[in-house]
Amino acid sequence: MRIDIITTLPRLIESPFSDSILKRAQAKGLVTVNVIDLRPYSASKHKTTDDYAFGGGAGMVMMIEPIDRCLTELKSQRTYDDIIYMSPDGELLNQSIANELSLKKNLVILCGHYKGVDERVREHLITREISIGNYVLSGGELAAAVVADAVIRLIPGVLSDETSALSDSFQDDLVAPPVYTRPAEYKGWKVPEVLLSGHEAKIEQWRMEKSLERTQKKRPELLKQEEKGPISKTSKGDF
Ligand code: SAH
Repeated sequence: MRIDIITTLPRLIESPFSDSILKRAQAKGLVTVNVIDLRPYSASKHKTTDDYAFGGGAGMVMMIEPIDRCLTELKSQRTYDDIIYMSPDGELLNQSIANELSLKKNLVILCGHYKGVDERVREHLITREISIGNYVLSGGELAAAVVADAVIRLIPGVLSDETSALSDSFQDDLVAPPVYTRPAEYKGWKVPEVLLSGHEAKIEQWRMEKSLERTQKKRPELLKQEEKGPISKTSKGDF
């Protein structure tokens, strides 16, 4: 998979991909994350990529021309499954969108800044708009990193234990059960006995129960969704 991220602030987005799981995924050749600086695509002398808003008002608007030039160049090199614009009013990111995107081959993510992009970019150049939540960030870079992270960890081979993404929250419309590690007792606070029993079936059953209990308590809407929809009730057994 290849993800091209277009930004006017490349440095803002480089570090999330230079460590840990996302770094290893690239080293293993499972994903290429390519951060593209938009500025060189500006035709202006000072390489500006934004201008005042028509009609007045505070805040700068990102111009269509550099974005179009950048996308035209990218599209001449390969076919993209989606050209995504990060936007607070886009589809709200969730696990099912992450799953869907993880199956794509080539993606572009465009990061906005200031007041956002000229509306014609959204009308003519973008195929999809994604939001990471109903709040406003100062730029799309952090949001793009969130999307890329959620997607990349789902690519087979990225996580060392392949089943571990399957047992994460939301993957089967349940949140994950509690997890513990050593010591078995700390300041008198004990790990549930069943986890120390070595009895696999019982452990699996306990985890399933806790998952359901926790979903009921923290995300009851996920269970309601399941009653309504055709979503299959998979076992939460892949731990
Ligand atoms: N004026 C715009 C906000 C612009 S914020 C509005 O009111 O909708 C500047 C940029 O940050 C946006 O272009 C977008 O790329 C990014 N951004 C801000 N909040 C975001 C969010 N919740 N999800 C995804 N991207 C976001």
